[in-house]
Amino acid sequence: MPLQEVTLQDIFVAAKAVSSMAHRTPLMLSQGLSKETGANVYLKLENTQQTGSFKVRGAANRLLHLTQQEMNAGVVTVSTGNHGKAVAYVAQRLGIRATVVVPELVLPHKVEAMRQLGAEVIIAGASQDEAELHAIEMAQADGAHPEGALTMVSPFDHPDIVAGQGTIGLELMEQLPEIDTAIIPLSGGGLASGIGLALKSANPRIRVIGVSMERGPVMVESLKAGHPVQLPEERTLADSLMGGIGLDNHYTFRMIQQYVDDTLLVSEEEIAAAMVYALRSERIVVEGGGAVGIAAVLAGKVAGPWRKVAIVVSGGNADLSVLESLLRLG
Ligand SMILES: *Cc1c(COP(=O)(O)O)cnc(C)c1O
Repeated sequence: MPLQEVTLQDIFVAAKAVSSMAHRTPLMLSQGLSKETGANVYLKLENTQQTGSFKVRGAANRLLHLTQQEMNAGVVTVSTGNHGKAVAYVAQRLGIRATVVVPELVLPHKVEAMRQLGAEVIIAGASQDEAELHAIEMAQADGAHPEGALTMVSPFDHPDIVAGQGTIGLELMEQLPEIDTAIIPLSGGGLASGIGLALKSANPRIRVIGVSMERGPVMVESLKAGHPVQLPEERTLADSLMGGIGLDNHYTFRMIQQYVDDTLLVSEEEIAAAMVYALRSERIVVEGGGAVGIAAVLAGKVAGPWRKVAIVVSGGNADLSVLESLLRLG
């Protein structure tokens, strides 16, 4: 069955839905990173986004495109934190019932944040994949819900999610029309697919670079293999990048193949250094998953030529005790 393609037009349509739930985030010139690299390096501050990450964009676009019947029945999703928080936030504002299934490794402060936004949180499964199976079972248990089946809201592998995240690409084109390089955190690939589609549509010569952590880079290993693969889940500072891409991935794997030019991996030490750098030098709070782009640049892993670079700082929901210990260790 041919699948629906995500198009630039979908991203423009998404911009309207997204603007009701999320705001346009600032693009800040980083003096420090510009000096370090000799390029003009800008930070796209999605850490200042509603709910603390860009995930609210995709969630808004997905939930606002549900049918009335689907809205009445409610949604279920699986998340290591930020997607769940975003779905909970949008659902609460739309009066939709939301259930979030989280794997056991999720950070407690993220669970608390979702509960405070009115979501029912179920902790199930040793990995993201196991949690997902649980969520799919819930979505399929029609009989249990008088209003009908719950709608499963994937964190990345859905056209509405990809188009929602792609609105960051539209903003980048307006904020930095001469952009030549975009550096984007990469996990399931919704973020980089959407931004990549928007930027490459505007100018195919813009270089799109995806960055993952060394500990469990499922998309990067899948690209190497030429098909989606599974990896054991490992603990990492970039907890919001944990999880698989789905062995039956429908959209993001192919889109990453198409729109991402290069991928890079960063170590735990490099992520830690980037979080501390962001706090000390840029005065911004960035979580591990949101810091991988800064980490790659600080570590000198991004090769030029480049003049106008945007790093997507994708989230700010750092565990404060983690930040404190990183600061103490220097
Ligand atoms: C989800 C997330 C990502 C990765 O997005 P994908 O669409 O899964 O690639 C990056 N950073 C943060 C902070 C996230 O929450």
